[in-house]
Amino acid sequence: MSSFEETSGLSFEVFPPKTAVSNQKIYQTLHDLQDLRPNFISVTSSNRTLNFENSTLKLADYVQNTLGIPGVVHLTARYFDKSQIDQVLIELKKLGIKNILVLRGDLAPGCPPKKDFNHASDLMTYIKSQDSSFRLFGACYPESHPESPDKVSDIHHLKAKVAAGCDCLITQMFFSNDTFYQFQENCALADIDVPLLAGIMPIVNRAQALHVLKQSECHLPAKFTLMLDRYQNDPEALRATGLAYAINQITDLVTNQIAGVHLYTMNQPAVARYIYQATKSLFTATCSPY
Ligand code: FAD
Repeated sequence: MSSFEETSGLSFEVFPPKTAVSNQKIYQTLHDLQDLRPNFISVTSSNRTLNFENSTLKLADYVQNTLGIPGVVHLTARYFDKSQIDQVLIELKKLGIKNILVLRGDLAPGCPPKKDFNHASDLMTYIKSQDSSFRLFGACYPESHPESPDKVSDIHHLKAKVAAGCDCLITQMFFSNDTFYQFQENCALADIDVPLLAGIMPIVNRAQALHVLKQSECHLPAKFTLMLDRYQNDPEALRATGLAYAINQITDLVTNQIAGVHLYTMNQPAVARYIYQATKSLFTATCSPY
């Protein structure tokens, strides 16, 4: 794990805004996150807009070169061909961005996929063959990817992803740390030895909960469902318990010396700040990321 020690600690994910109004807000959001001194900020990309240069790349440039925080661009293998990837790599080099989260992406209506890269690992192999200095992040799934027929094939393909050049893994969100620890053990048994960053999604309202859970197909522990049901008509209480739940998860993970926590911020710096304030002393005591 030593080659990626700089990712120990807290990192954030943001997404490019979909409207002009939120477009103005995102820069303030990024400034607010800057104070929290994350190890990096990753910027998602959408296969619906395919507007990579004007959204993902622009924000990652801002993170990297204006805020001085390492930026990570998300790049979806299915929606780029080789010549487009070559262009993206040139742009990233120009901007000094070395970190790419390489994903397969999902099929979206009206967005036919390109044919050069079928899986994230195909794109990783290609990028490393073009320029081995890029640091590649990959996605992984403590509950297995929904398309995987079983855990064995999921881990098998994950190992191939690491062999293809993945330097660090970030998990899909999960709400049971035991599931994460079991997955971590399975990775260790398969000799998957790159750092594993735990993806944590603080749930702060019911609509958000239902939306992200539908998208990710994550399993919910009974105590989590109870919380959603009990406070469904009390937004303030739901927010408080959702934050407490995420802080509990992080406290347990950091105590168990995981490599790092990647917070799905949902572009809400106040949520990230609250969690940072509650957990920063734990990180300082264990992995000193700040
Ligand atoms: P892969 O690694 O290609 O795996 C997908 C499935 O194929 C798995 O079941 C795997 O076991 C299997 N598989 C892998 N290799 C092979 C092979 N060689 N042969 C046969 N089967 C194989 N989506 C976006 O559109 N934009 C984003 O910004 C984005 N960010 C994300 C960030 C994180 C941290 C995570 C966890 C997910 C993100 N996603 C994003 C979603 C992601 O694109 C989907 O989950 C997608 O379905 C799978 O992507 P992957 O990179 O894990 O795919």
